[in-house]
Amino acid sequence: MNRNQVLELSAQLSGRAVLPGDDDYDSARTGWNLSVEHHPAVVVAAEEPADVVAAVLFAVEADLPIAVEATGHGASVPADGAVYINPGGLNELMIDARSRTARIGAGLRWGQVVQAAAEHGLAPLCGSSAHVGVMGYLTGGGLPVLGRTFGFAAETVRSLDLVTADGQLRTVSPSSEADLYWAVRGARSNFGVVVAAEIDLLPILRLYGGHFSFDGQHAEQVLRTYVDWAHQQPEEMTSSIILVRFPDIPQMADDVRGRFLVNVRIAYVGAPADGERLVAPLRALRPEQDHVRDMPYTEISEIYRDPFRPTPARVRTALLHDLDDKAVDDLIAVAGPEHELPFGGIELRHLGGALSRKPARPSAVGAREAQFHLFMSMPAPIASNSLDMVHRTQEKVLASLHPWDTGSQLPGLMFNHETHPEDVRRGYPEADYRRLVQLKTTYDPRNLFRLNHNIPPW
Ligand SMILES: Cc1cc2nc3c(=O)[nH]c(=O)nc-3n(C[C@H](O)[C@H](O)[C@H](O)COP(=O)(O)OP(=O)(O)OC[C@H]3O[C@@H](n4cnc5c(N)ncnc54)[C@H](O)[C@@H]3O)c2cc1C
Repeated sequence: MNRNQVLELSAQLSGRAVLPGDDDYDSARTGWNLSVEHHPAVVVAAEEPADVVAAVLFAVEADLPIAVEATGHGASVPADGAVYINPGGLNELMIDARSRTARIGAGLRWGQVVQAAAEHGLAPLCGSSAHVGVMGYLTGGGLPVLGRTFGFAAETVRSLDLVTADGQLRTVSPSSEADLYWAVRGARSNFGVVVAAEIDLLPILRLYGGHFSFDGQHAEQVLRTYVDWAHQQPEEMTSSIILVRFPDIPQMADDVRGRFLVNVRIAYVGAPADGERLVAPLRALRPEQDHVRDMPYTEISEIYRDPFRPTPARVRTALLHDLDDKAVDDLIAVAGPEHELPFGGIELRHLGGALSRKPARPSAVGAREAQFHLFMSMPAPIASNSLDMVHRTQEKVLASLHPWDTGSQLPGLMFNHETHPEDVRRGYPEADYRRLVQLKTTYDPRNLFRLNHNIPPW
């Protein structure tokens, strides 16, 4: 890559090309998850689909790999020496109330779409955090807060506008380049940069949801009751439980500082009175805090209250078979109140329901047999003392739940610890993985899009 090539690229962009040494290089290369540090050759802050096309053609010409990152919530491998495309400036958003659809640019985050759709009495199938990027989530499959009721968010995708490794801008849908339409919904950035998506919206304005908070001393009783209770719930109820430790530092709010809490998260689509009846066995455990209520969909991110400030998150996940009493015993034996564990959470999210069914719009998201998703996020700065403790804790929890581990992963919930090709394979059923490799060989034979959870060509 030489200076003239970069000047030529800059001249073509509505957005900016940011180079090492530029004042905004550090902010341009830094996303939410600070545990992955990128040192790209150039950052392209795109504002138009044409900027993405120019950036891809530039990478082809300069023979550089391409990384795609919007918010950094799903950071995978360092984008060192790469053309790092950030589609953050692609902020188109159109809601069509008559067809109940939204057309969304790749720079948007779910909170923005939720707010805009609500003005029309509609809602997208978002995940737990308002700050997660729309395309990173959709291309990973998208496990919604209302997952058991409506299935994966990738199934709401009608079409995607995608810039592939040959620099072409394509619209993929069930009737146009159906193979790519199937692959991109699950294979993240392996097939190109999505610049816009058209998705279905649902007529949901309110839900019965929130969280119950219990003192960690009661972890075993709450976890046992929760697992039993979850088994009896209708598909309209999606829930999760988290064992969470907060450090004793002044930055923490008084009600959580230095505490071990167990929170149960509730999202019920139905009459509030029915929701109230369903959660009665959890309320009977007398939570210390009860934030479960009839709420507008616009407050859905209050259910999980995910951290929105950048953090050096160390995330490990697993897809689990159905849990039983022995699983509760084994988890409590390594993560119960008598253990000093690092800051962060161990979450079990209830799956099943619509997530287990064959989708109307098949995608590369497989692994539909799992009944719970394990998600552990624990912050630890690079090269800090706490890093080792976090690794050991996460390994212990994974080992304790190993008998229930399906061995599969959800592609959108793999993070920087799972970037080895063998880990990536676990994101897809064997036949789907082979089909993805075949398509990758057709659409990106040089593997330009390799700085991700990579599916290499033959
Ligand atoms: C706090 C938190 C809460 C979460 N909650 C949920 C949840 O409830 N449900 C769920 O399913 N997931 C959840 N996730 C996972 C999240 O959906 C993925 O990490 C997702 O990839 C993040 O997308 P992003 O664009 O915000 O992140 P980024 O780090 O910007 O992108 C992650 C990856 O997505 C791909 N990508 C991003 N933009 C594009 C694009 N325009 N075109 C092609 N590929 C692209 C790239 O491969 C990129 O490396 C959560 C993650 C965090 C950190």
